[in-house]
Amino acid sequence: MTTLAFLTSLASGSVAGARVRPYGIDVADLEIDFDAPRPIVVTRVLAACLRGREDELWAASVQTRILLLLALSEVSLAAPVEAHLACRCGETAVIELSAAELASFVASRRRDRVIAEANGERVELRLPTGRDQLRWAQLGDRMDVARAVLETLVVEGELTDALLVAADRALGEADPIVELEVTSACPACGTALSQIIDLERISLTRLRHARAGLLAQVHVLASTYHWTEAAIAALPSWRRAEYAALVQPRLR
Ligand SMILES: [Zn+2]
Repeated sequence: MTTLAFLTSLASGSVAGARVRPYGIDVADLEIDFDAPRPIVVTRVLAACLRGREDELWAASVQTRILLLLALSEVSLAAPVEAHLACRCGETAVIELSAAELASFVASRRRDRVIAEANGERVELRLPTGRDQLRWAQLGDRMDVARAVLETLVVEGELTDALLVAADRALGEADPIVELEVTSACPACGTALSQIIDLERISLTRLRHARAGLLAQVHVLASTYHWTEAAIAALPSWRRAEYAALVQPRLR
């Protein structure tokens, strides 16, 4: 299944039939270094679990990559993806985030080109890809980093000073989940709460948990049966999980 077909099935509320496997069931998943720059981690994880080609994933838009990562973190852990909005009164509002719902939201605002206009000037931009993200990560702490980032996305026209703010806003509207604002009301006092959330970070944290679960299985089987890591790796994931659960039921 192509990335696009996977996303379409996601938007229709089903990942059934998608050639996606959970992260953290294959011992090769342990080879992925979660401390590498984020765009690299995202590409490696998606390539492993969607059986996709890395060059296709680099070329995918940032929002597509985020949705795929979120969906993958959904299928990799049993618990739903949640955002927690803390209120001043001490209570917390919990919002469940579903990749399928977010995919529909993104599809409803989808456009491939972004136009910004100000003072009679006009510039056309494209949506950023994973490859852009990687390039931006290498820009460092330049003073004009925001401008440098936007300039890489210009496809027609010139990004003049007058257009900077408009271009930034237009891009944010076309790419709503890159910095997603979630809103809710405090369940205790009713105060309106809102927060910008980083879906990529939330998803990667969940995948780190899945990774820790796999490491725990390998550890338990190696210590109990004295099998080598290679022998444990060669087991089908369901058998590894069953053995580990026999030793430590909480690992099921
Ligand atoms: Zn409150």
